[in-house]
Amino acid sequence: MKSYQVVILGSGISGVAFARLMQRAGLHDFVLLEAAGEAGGLCRTRHIDGHWLDIGGGHFLCTKYPEVYDFVFAHLPKSEFNFFTRVSKLAIENHEIDYPIESNLWQLPIALQTEFLNSVLQNGESRGLPAPQHFEDWVRWKLGDRIADSYMIPYNTKIWGVSPQELDIDWLSKIPRLNLEEIMFACKHQQAPSGKMPSHEGFYYPKQGGFQTVFDAIARPVQNHIQLNTPAINVAIFSERIIVNDEFEAAIVINTVPWSKLNFEFASPEIERSIAQLQHNSITVSLHEQPKHLTAHWIYEPDLNLRHHRRFFIHNFAPHSRKDGVYFETNQKRWSTSTDVVYFHHNEYAYPIPTLGRAQAIDRVLSYMRDRQIFGLGRWGQWQYFNSDVCIWEAMKLFRSLFQAVPIRPVGVR
Ligand SMILES: Cc1cc2nc3c(=O)[nH]c(=O)nc-3n(C[C@H](O)[C@H](O)[C@H](O)COP(=O)(O)OP(=O)(O)OC[C@H]3O[C@@H](n4cnc5c(N)ncnc54)[C@H](O)[C@@H]3O)c2cc1C
Repeated sequence: MKSYQVVILGSGISGVAFARLMQRAGLHDFVLLEAAGEAGGLCRTRHIDGHWLDIGGGHFLCTKYPEVYDFVFAHLPKSEFNFFTRVSKLAIENHEIDYPIESNLWQLPIALQTEFLNSVLQNGESRGLPAPQHFEDWVRWKLGDRIADSYMIPYNTKIWGVSPQELDIDWLSKIPRLNLEEIMFACKHQQAPSGKMPSHEGFYYPKQGGFQTVFDAIARPVQNHIQLNTPAINVAIFSERIIVNDEFEAAIVINTVPWSKLNFEFASPEIERSIAQLQHNSITVSLHEQPKHLTAHWIYEPDLNLRHHRRFFIHNFAPHSRKDGVYFETNQKRWSTSTDVVYFHHNEYAYPIPTLGRAQAIDRVLSYMRDRQIFGLGRWGQWQYFNSDVCIWEAMKLFRSLFQAVPIRPVGVR
């Protein structure tokens, strides 16, 4: 049996950030178990015939946490990034307008603009009705049926792969929130109000390679601690030690992998049911070569006749990548290959789906496991729609809560 203070399950950005925080504090008694033959999880990039393809889908660095920028830039200096003001488009009824729709209705032809404005004017919010607790009802309440049916319902059906009626509203921070006055003001003055982008108003992207360049810089100092091709399968508890795969024992386990991939010998039926309640979707990222494309970084495409939901123009944020490189994100339920696909990658675990009941289910799992010194971390460990910056932030919070007494050394690559 190999014995450690901490065993970390998974070596995506969550596991590696936690490992790096331990190492920086002078704690070296840890191992990361990784199922795949390489580290990185969703933050991986492939170099294909001159294209830099982020195989986990569109990845951009942007955070509201200054400490996360400090952490990232201590590993990969800011000078190694380009900064971009986000340009993203929305394709709606044969028109392309800037995202988000609420700020940019004025870019539509006047007849359509009027229909969409009426949709907002007649919505439940304008009529003083209380906010519904289901996503589809909420969208209709907030934007009205015309915008819901033309954009929000089809787009969310495409990306999530489940009916919007099954979704909760606890992830609405990802969605722009403009009130009626702001929407009307934007139309009247033909100008989008500033500061209304929910995330990525501007973003950093590495000057070399793809998003994996960020991951690699953080992972490099801990790479000797990563055990590849080692899926965690079974977790048991014996004499207050946690035993993984009958091979690794630890006082603390940090879990960043989907809970459903693990067998917990000690889990109660209620916890097993809660784990079974956690749903995820799968996204295929496919590379294409298209000679002409937009000046935008990416475009949202809610049209149900198209299989994909988002398209990215790589050269516009990675000028070192070939000019004609475009990639699509498609829910795996809608995916089928075609002759113009240069390369594709299936991400089995892409988004935790914010279904009704998810929050209560993951709370039960986290609290039960925490009592046994097993801590969930990151997109899968906490089963939340976290971006990589939030995974790093959550790693910092968890690290502090577990090792508060340990003085943190200045950030720096050893
Ligand atoms: C389409 C898309 C777009 C995104 N856009 C952005 C963006 O613009 N900006 C941003 O910051 N973030 C973005 N994200 C989110 C970001 O990818 C994640 O938040 C982050 O990479 C999650 O890291 P993680 O370590 O928690 O999980 P993962 O990256 O999924 O890593 C989990 C690791 O665990 C391993 N594993 C699985 N099962 C086992 C097992 N049984 N035993 C051992 N190892 C196992 C996996 O192989 C993997 O290496 C996006 C994600 C997607 C899908």
